[in-house]
Amino acid sequence: MRDFIYTANPARIVFRPGALSSVQEEAQRLGMKRALVLSTPQQAGSAEAVADILGPLSAGIFSGATMHTPVSVTDTALTVVAERRVDGVIAIGGGSTIGLGKALALRTDLPQIVIPTTYAGSEVTPIIGETQDGIKKTQTTAKVLPEVVIYDVELTLTLPVGLSATSGMNAIAHAVEALYAKDRNPIVSMMAIDGVRSIARGLPAIARDPGDIEARSDVQYGAWLCGTCLGAVGMALHHKLCHTLGGTFDLPHAETHTVVLPHALRYNASAAPEAMAALADALGHPDPAIALFDLAGTLGAPRALWDLGMPEAGIDRATDLALANPYWNPRPLEREAIRALIAAAWAGEPPA
Ligand code: NAD
Repeated sequence: MRDFIYTANPARIVFRPGALSSVQEEAQRLGMKRALVLSTPQQAGSAEAVADILGPLSAGIFSGATMHTPVSVTDTALTVVAERRVDGVIAIGGGSTIGLGKALALRTDLPQIVIPTTYAGSEVTPIIGETQDGIKKTQTTAKVLPEVVIYDVELTLTLPVGLSATSGMNAIAHAVEALYAKDRNPIVSMMAIDGVRSIARGLPAIARDPGDIEARSDVQYGAWLCGTCLGAVGMALHHKLCHTLGGTFDLPHAETHTVVLPHALRYNASAAPEAMAALADALGHPDPAIALFDLAGTLGAPRALWDLGMPEAGIDRATDLALANPYWNPRPLEREAIRALIAAAWAGEPPA
């Protein structure tokens, strides 16, 4: 018998090739008159393009967004917000830029328009991670949920194949854990399955031809679905491991997700038969953990933590940290099995 609670996060999604052109209209709908456009230094050109489309509604750009949302950068941006009497923020970029927009919304309640250019999914979650004095703290609050998301596939064409692959695998990880979440529900599971299917179909085509706009659209659509899953239900062992490994060994975010996912899924497989059956169907492979390991290989994505710079001596420390303050997980955490999982991921072995 069905038994669930489903809480939907409000969002206005504009999904269309060329949708960037509607940013002025969307800003007007939200009553913005002086919008600040955010980006990383690398994407300052895209921020300028947004400011041009905004015309008189633009209060200029702030292109200082960086990884891990440092509070120091947010403080600098807050000064700009005050000086220019900004009444809304528009983030164009990946999770790092979106994180800065959320950090500003957290402190000011300013409305946000987000224009994602990767597949990380932060644009549809009420989650924010911020770093201060080398410590990353994550919180969930509706205050940071963006009001409008504009998905324009044309902006993803410049995302390098390597980052497309790992960012897409990062998105798949949200859906995988949503399928066996403690608070899973039928709506989120539907989104998760379609999200995995769309991304797993699109990524190999992008690796062959990064300009394949149909494949890009499939993956962006899947990323929206998977991000929505992340924002709606709780995550488990995989996300805990990636958070721990990334923070402790300063490993890159999307690459770490890519390496760990097949192993975390293998660990949980016996405790999540329904999720495994759904994933087998979505991935067209009887063993979803192997399918994800193979997919990473096909895409030329990293499959070993050593390759990302984690020292072998870190395996025991990572095991300790994974077992401290654990997230809920379908299979109880067993020390030796967790250590074996991390060791296999470190060495780049197939999930055993
Ligand atoms: P990112 O935002 O750090 O971007 C990586 C690099 O790629 C940047 O230099 C960026 O400017 C560049 N880039 C982005 N899009 C591009 C494009 N289309 N063309 C060319 N270059 C482009 O990477 P990410 O993986 O999107 O985000 C990772 C961060 O997001 C992590 O800090 C992670 O914790 C966070 N995140 C948060 C949530 C959440 O719900 N709060 C969800 C997922 C990820």
